[in-house]
Amino acid sequence: MSLKNKYDVIVVGAGPGGSMTAKTAAEKGLNVLLIEKRQEIGSPIRCAEGVGEKSFKKFFPVIKDEWISTKMVGVRIYSPDGTLVEMSDNRAVGYILERKIFDRDLACMAADAGADVFTKTRATDIIIKDNFVKGIEGIRLGERFKVEADIVVGADGVESKVGRWAGIDTTLKPKDIESGAEYLISGIPVEDLCEVYLGNDIAPAGYVWAFPKGKNRANVGIGILGSKIGEKRPFDYLNEFVKKKYKNGKIIEVIYGGIPVSRPTKTFENGIMLVGDAARFTDPITGGGITNAMESGIYAGEVAAECIEEEDFSEGGLKKYEKRWRSTIGEENNRSYLLKEFFINLPDGGLNALAHSINKINITELSVKGLMRTLIDKNPWIPAKLAKLFKKK
Ligand SMILES: Cc1cc2nc3c(=O)[nH]c(=O)nc-3n(C[C@H](O)[C@H](O)[C@H](O)COP(=O)(O)OP(=O)(O)OC[C@H]3O[C@@H](n4cnc5c(N)ncnc54)[C@H](O)[C@@H]3O)c2cc1C
Repeated sequence: MSLKNKYDVIVVGAGPGGSMTAKTAAEKGLNVLLIEKRQEIGSPIRCAEGVGEKSFKKFFPVIKDEWISTKMVGVRIYSPDGTLVEMSDNRAVGYILERKIFDRDLACMAADAGADVFTKTRATDIIIKDNFVKGIEGIRLGERFKVEADIVVGADGVESKVGRWAGIDTTLKPKDIESGAEYLISGIPVEDLCEVYLGNDIAPAGYVWAFPKGKNRANVGIGILGSKIGEKRPFDYLNEFVKKKYKNGKIIEVIYGGIPVSRPTKTFENGIMLVGDAARFTDPITGGGITNAMESGIYAGEVAAECIEEEDFSEGGLKKYEKRWRSTIGEENNRSYLLKEFFINLPDGGLNALAHSINKINITELSVKGLMRTLIDKNPWIPAKLAKLFKKK
């Protein structure tokens, strides 16, 4: 199979955002190209692989067993002085995925829907004609190519270049990006719960996580806000934590990567849309971006089909895309961004006080909203402006 000269839609990057865009657009009958620069889709992973059950299930009628490494029943949060806040239920409330399998399957679904999928194929630039993005230039197996399209979708992750090539400012301030480092550690005791550790000595303006991967393994990682990084790097903090907590564990994989904790960028221009991490859709408080990447991919695929039907690839036509994500991803992102700003300015004493106020309560509404509602109830000093955002509607 070889590349065609022209497609309706070219999607750059086969992560969850890109594959979902390609799948949706192909299901709508469009002629779609999905390219991935790596030789294998889903590998190496740069993720702790955690997703909420509800938010993940809504994308698939059937969840395949092989996508899931662990069904988790709750979350344990440890404040800087070690106070435990537990959120748990008797049922699976989230999954730790096997992204190496899941990401590849999602790209296969896009292919099954009719998209051309090419790995080891890198976009190196976009083609601009009359102020419209009109395709991409790239390298495939050492050969340079040019392919035209009515719409290009940048799904090229946190380090996205596609947006920048189209003139969209995707730069992130140091206070709006977490620098992440992670080990897959084997030979350690784990339960079906995610653990989160807070504190300025542990992870300044971020957290350490331990997400179970099967019986005796976990993704143990750290995110530190860019503006808080001094001489100690994320791996230095992580090594200290691992030495204390998992000294007998064996490090099987090493992962690093940036996590946007910002507001979204502009997400469209003439002939182009950005999805997933490229559009900065990661949740600023949890750092989770898998489900938002997929959701934005669905919106982008749908809008591509509508714009192609209307033969309008202009900024004005693609504006529908922003309208669609603003009321869902955008609203959550705004709430989480303000929450992030509140938490990063709290000293350890404040985090401890919050944990002491709720450590005897088992929180069964397992979400950031559930946690915040419990905290707001017990802590009238939490700013009213913030509290208002978490009121039940
Ligand atoms: C350490 C860490 C832990 C995380 N933990 C979680 C978690 O537990 N839960 C969660 O929900 N999220 C987590 N995230 C975030 C999550 O990984 C991302 O939000 C998610 O992968 C975004 O999907 P995406 O499709 O937008 O981008 P990506 O998954 O990054 O996919 C982008 C793809 O584009 C490809 N690409 C890039 N440039 C080009 C090019 N020029 N040509 C062709 N292909 C290209 C890349 O190779 C990549 O495959 C974590 C992130 C990090 C760094």
